[in-house]
Amino acid sequence: MFSLPPEIPAPPDFAAELNEQQLAAVSTEAHHALVIAGAGSGKTRTLTYRVAWLLSRGVPGWRILLLTFTNKAAREMLERVHSLVGEGARHIMGGTFHSVANRILRRHAELIGFRPGFTILDTDDQKSLMRSIVKQRVGKQSKTNPFPKADFLLSLHSLATNTARTLHDVLLQESPQNCRHEEIIQKIFEDYAQRKRDANAMDFDDLLVNLRKLLEEHEEVRFTMQERFLHVLVDEYQDTNPLQDQIISLLCGGTRTSLMVVGDDAQSIYSWRGARVEHILEFPERFPDTALYKIETNYRSVAPILALSDAAIAQNEHRFSKTLRPARREEARLPLVVPAPDNRTEAQYVSLSIEQLIESGVRPCDIAVLYRAHFHSLDTQIELTRRHIPYRITSGLRFFEQAHIKDAVAYLRLLSNPIDESSFLRIASMLPRVGEASAARLLQAWRTAWQAYAAEHADYSAAPIPFSEIMSTVHPPTAAKTEWASFLATLESLRPAGHELTPSEMIVRVAEELESFLMAQYENAEDRIQDLEQLARSMEDAEDLDDFLSRVALLSETDRSIDANAGENCVTLSTIHQAKGLEWRVVFLIFLGEGLFPHHRSIADGDPREMEEETRLFYVALTRAQDRLFLSYPRYNGHGYDSHYCPPSRFLTSLPPDLYEVGEA
Ligand code: ATP
Ligand code: MG
Repeated sequence: MFSLPPEIPAPPDFAAELNEQQLAAVSTEAHHALVIAGAGSGKTRTLTYRVAWLLSRGVPGWRILLLTFTNKAAREMLERVHSLVGEGARHIMGGTFHSVANRILRRHAELIGFRPGFTILDTDDQKSLMRSIVKQRVGKQSKTNPFPKADFLLSLHSLATNTARTLHDVLLQESPQNCRHEEIIQKIFEDYAQRKRDANAMDFDDLLVNLRKLLEEHEEVRFTMQERFLHVLVDEYQDTNPLQDQIISLLCGGTRTSLMVVGDDAQSIYSWRGARVEHILEFPERFPDTALYKIETNYRSVAPILALSDAAIAQNEHRFSKTLRPARREEARLPLVVPAPDNRTEAQYVSLSIEQLIESGVRPCDIAVLYRAHFHSLDTQIELTRRHIPYRITSGLRFFEQAHIKDAVAYLRLLSNPIDESSFLRIASMLPRVGEASAARLLQAWRTAWQAYAAEHADYSAAPIPFSEIMSTVHPPTAAKTEWASFLATLESLRPAGHELTPSEMIVRVAEELESFLMAQYENAEDRIQDLEQLARSMEDAEDLDDFLSRVALLSETDRSIDANAGENCVTLSTIHQAKGLEWRVVFLIFLGEGLFPHHRSIADGDPREMEEETRLFYVALTRAQDRLFLSYPRYNGHGYDSHYCPPSRFLTSLPPDLYEVGEA
């Protein structure tokens, strides 16, 4: 008997589904390729079809690396490729720089001095670690000679790392008033590195730094990667920082690997995180043998939206000039500019319009409200809630940043990496009568006991791990004895003898353990328990503990709750930064007041480069809209004594008035 081969879709009709310029890029024979084109011209689509093209030409999926701005973007692109060419798409490595780095590092952690179960620290973990170091090094803060806060130190640290600058240079350029603290900050950074190492932990930046280190210092790994990846493709290339760029250079340093990057210099909006638009502008010099492709048709937006966007970006001097013709020629309404008396009225206007749009048949998921800063969304959130309009918010507190979720995840992290400092401290601090000092003492004892055990049991991942026995030398305060024993028992029960629990089953067990703590701690404990159950449900497909933990850590990176709520039919509320690359039929851009957007800091600094970046951000916002665009601002922001007059943004007043209509809130 013959069995039929799995159904393979006919290869896509590339020539019919792409325009000539896109097809030229998709089918390029050049070694390297740069596609530089305006918003909505199909750059991402071109990259997707390029992958399909390569597969249809016989390149195996595992030899392709696709780097995107969010993991969600990678997933969507790969789903699309899958629908175009079928199974071949399965083995492609795709995701953000961070998630790809994580995958490669898990395999080679030992080469750079880590164990494979290393923990990824999220922003909160980083902050508490930094705080405790500052406390040790600087002690009590004096009002007359204040020392920078943990948050700020972390952003300095990250900036130095991502822009490949020394602390000295970063301080000089970004915060000269803190130069006097340089020596002690340097020491704090050294402690920070050491503490992470002691805990077998990496922060987000470390993922990239360590991948670079691995590739630089281990020729054999570098060669293997260069041999493996015949094609590396990068979306949103205008926002790569020097560190990411060095990684690309290392991966593509051999003679075999072809690199295709796509981007738009006019949409570079991450210079504050070290992105350098020069990477795209200088690409052809750095990678000889590069073919340059342009795409000049915009498929996303109706003509009036495109005309307004073009006028907005035309104010910037430093850019590649590009022409964009609209593919969409249908009759369409002009964008609407709406001044509102104050922020509440603005929010009421936006919510009412959304309600009417939904009544007229527009799906909520086709509508977005975009803004410069998270707090601008507050009034709109309240109004939408009042009207029972479902929304998801991609800025602000997210699912995985909530304390109870982190408490539960801490158990699993500790199971995977028993010397994980922040997880241990998190759990210890839930015990009765355990304050900072006794938690630190417990940690010390815990580590000593663990290390003694680990020294004798090389393969300690074999189940079960007798935590209660191992920790018999660790003594919590008397008041916490029962809870301590129960914590150890729970930890032990997560890896029972005989069979493996899935990460979801583990979460369910931990939720049972946490229940009484949550009940005592929170009014809305039941909701929180439901959250934990939801976490277990949505992570059912995690392959194993490490996969689960990596996913959780990476979810709190850039795509955030977009993933948690994927597929739901609700309105999107998002900062412009997080809306990059996306599109909606209807876009509301709110809080367009001078000082709100552009941000008052860029006005005060008077640095034209900062204002140009704000303008690019405005351009990114406008170009997310397909059919309708609403631009609004509050004349007064705040209420009562706190209220202040807010003139319209310079971005609005400098637009040619024939390109928009004025509405009333
Ligand atoms: P951005 O600069 O915002 O990242 P982009 O250049 O990546 O935009 P895409 O998101 O790839 O643009 O495409 C914008 C929209 O236009 C998408 O809905 C896409 O499917 C559609 N599109 C692009 N090219 C074509 C085409 N040749 N035919 C039909 N639709 C197209
Ligand atoms: Mg794109």
